[in-house]
Amino acid sequence: MSQPPNSNYFITLDEAIELTNKTKIPLKEEKINLQDSFNRILSKDIYSLIDDPPFDNSSMDGYALIYSDTITASEKNPIELEIIDIISAGKTPIKKLTPGYASKIMTGAPIPDGADSIIMVEKTEKIDNKVRIFSPSFKNYIRIKGENITKKQLILKKGTKLTPRDLGLLATSGHSEIYVYKKLKISIISTGDELIIPGNKLSPGQIYESNGYVLENLIKKLGHNSNRVNIISDSIEKLRLELNKASLESDIIITTGGVSMGDFDIVRKIMELEGKILFWRMKIRPGSPPLFGDWKNTPIFGLPGNPASSFVVFSILIKPWLNYITNTKNQENKIIKAKLIEDIKIKKGFHSFLRVYVENNGNEMVAFTKTHQGSGNMNSLSISNALTFLKPNDKTNKNDIIDVILID
Ligand code: AMP
Ligand code: MG
Repeated sequence: MSQPPNSNYFITLDEAIELTNKTKIPLKEEKINLQDSFNRILSKDIYSLIDDPPFDNSSMDGYALIYSDTITASEKNPIELEIIDIISAGKTPIKKLTPGYASKIMTGAPIPDGADSIIMVEKTEKIDNKVRIFSPSFKNYIRIKGENITKKQLILKKGTKLTPRDLGLLATSGHSEIYVYKKLKISIISTGDELIIPGNKLSPGQIYESNGYVLENLIKKLGHNSNRVNIISDSIEKLRLELNKASLESDIIITTGGVSMGDFDIVRKIMELEGKILFWRMKIRPGSPPLFGDWKNTPIFGLPGNPASSFVVFSILIKPWLNYITNTKNQENKIIKAKLIEDIKIKKGFHSFLRVYVENNGNEMVAFTKTHQGSGNMNSLSISNALTFLKPNDKTNKNDIIDVILID
């Protein structure tokens, strides 16, 4: 049993980050196939198994030849070389080149012994088994073994969340199986008597549940697994059962709704009486009532129910914490500068995360709000592409340059 430190106290974003970062989760590893590794987080540094390219090869369709044979070639006085071989990609050249000879070669095919130059097919003329060359062929168009990556070179660091490009690099360097962190299991519990699942007819007083859909997919995007619990009505008994279950099944619990001052704010109530609260309420707008603590040794975030609030708290607190505990470096919030093209109002002393749209107006990045900032306005999230990242004393008049976070 524990109480919030002081129920009139709102902690700052920095204090909240410091507190959450004190909570770590033991990470497990697993070996998976390359084709299953998109969006997974590497648990080990990765070194190339081979040189890339593995052999010298041609970067053009053309002729492999000896550069010194072509020094005197010109439009007026072309030179002719005898074609002794046709080398396609995937074949091993058998014939060694000696002066006076050339081998026809395709892109990606190995360079034959003796050759030191490739001339593009477009710059040649073929007559029977001879090729005519009209200009010197410099030592171009040979991709040298290992010029991209050398064997045993570090290619990807532990903590990298794998992109499609990274999968290409892993394949290129010979990896078919890799070690990643096991996905964290995150239970999502949406609370509220008024919530129903889309597909059902709304009765008076009801709204469709939406936070679960947002959170589930934000979690997926970060490379983890969510476990969605059906909507819980505002009943302490039901919530207790679900929290107990979630703490056994999951690494982390996220609840939405029920953390404010309302009579039926059961998440706050049960956490005050039976859980452990590390903090409750932050100096942020929107989303000031979040709660963080643990339920039976499982970290729990109690997010506010309003869609904009729960999205903001996930984005600025939970996402950075998940990155921190998994040491993931390449999916941090991207913060850019943009010029405000309207005055905006913020609450004094709070960090403000307004939903805005940023775009390049041809000269510079500009930011503006597209709609009203009510925290229940799901549409405002969908039509925005950024959140302002305004510190308590930042200026927010038209033409001020501000930080914005690009959102997922
Ligand atoms: P609460 O935090 O429970 O006081 O809820 C604040 C507001 O958010 C209320 O208008 C709720 O109806 C709404 N709300 C709560 N949970 C959800 C949810 N999962 N999806 C959509 N709206 C919600
Ligand atoms: Mg509620």
